[in-house]
Amino acid sequence: MQRTELSTLGEFGLIKHLTQNNKTRLQSTIKSIGDDSAVLDFKNNKTVVTTDILVEELHFDLSYTPLKHLGYKAVAVNVSDICAMFATPSHITVSIAVSNRFSVEALDELYEGIYQACSDYNIDLVGGDTTSSLKGLFISITALGYAHEKEIVYRNTAKEGDIICLSGDVGAAYLGLQILEREKAITQSNPGIQPILDKYTYMVQRQLKPNARIDLVQFLKSKNIQPTSMIDVSDGVSSELIHICSQSNVGCQIEEEFLPMTNECITTALELNLDPMTCALNGGEDYELLFTIDAKDKEIIENAGGITIIGEIVSAEMGIKIRTRSGNLYNLTAQGWNHYATK
Ligand code: ADP
Ligand code: MG
Repeated sequence: MQRTELSTLGEFGLIKHLTQNNKTRLQSTIKSIGDDSAVLDFKNNKTVVTTDILVEELHFDLSYTPLKHLGYKAVAVNVSDICAMFATPSHITVSIAVSNRFSVEALDELYEGIYQACSDYNIDLVGGDTTSSLKGLFISITALGYAHEKEIVYRNTAKEGDIICLSGDVGAAYLGLQILEREKAITQSNPGIQPILDKYTYMVQRQLKPNARIDLVQFLKSKNIQPTSMIDVSDGVSSELIHICSQSNVGCQIEEEFLPMTNECITTALELNLDPMTCALNGGEDYELLFTIDAKDKEIIENAGGITIIGEIVSAEMGIKIRTRSGNLYNLTAQGWNHYATK
């Protein structure tokens, strides 16, 4: 494969190269890339802003992460944060710091993923910054979105009697990472051996190319359901529930038997000697939405498909609990998502 050194383009040449096919989709984009700032028009809406930084070796491992997937994921995780405010994502800026280890072609791949996500989520890339790093790749993305003031959903507004809902299934992204790490270790110590990933396609996909649940936000809005609180699952269901409960000053009780996990995830967890429930509760990066609704909306959620009711909000005095299949109550703990810290 061809390798064009970054130095052949220089900073301005590189920015021009990476953004030459950038396309503006939204009327709200008044001025995109090319001036000192972008100019956006959110009319009568409130603006919602979020940002995330990804550091090579700390947040991603390029030995098994294709750059295209990384670009996609970097956008998706920010879009997910906008969705978790029950807002509509609309714009991103992308800042990169990159060492000369990377070629122009490598950055093209990264941007291919970024543009794919912009197309999938119907958002505009309207700016960024480009600089060099001494070692490794850094990607910082800022996402903007909008919502009417009354539509915005916070973490601190769950109330007693609300029903706790979770979209999709959980645990898969964490298991995907365990598989990728295992295969990496095997191929490193046995050069020539190909990693076996086919069996784990779903989990690996959930780790490498997560999907922000913009579709769920649209669905709930179409049914006139206004969640009473909402958060996206980046660190794990347990940790996110603790955020909602402590900020809302309530407790919760969820049921182990209702935690949505696919059969292949359960099988893989057991194969890896991991407790499936721990994977569902403390595995992170699923980017599903965890939210609470008023009990009056329960039936619509039950009939929606793809949303599971996992428990109920109770008083703060009752604590933040899970009831296991055997009927015992345990406190939920926030192990969170800190996989690399244990290395
Ligand atoms: P400034 O000197 O004002 O920081 P730059 O030369 O860094 O401007 O950037 C020129 C234009 O290109 C700006 O509109 C900026 O937002 C955009 N831009 C710079 N780097 C990137 C990037 N990595 N991805 C997308 N847009 C970028
Ligand atoms: Mg700049």
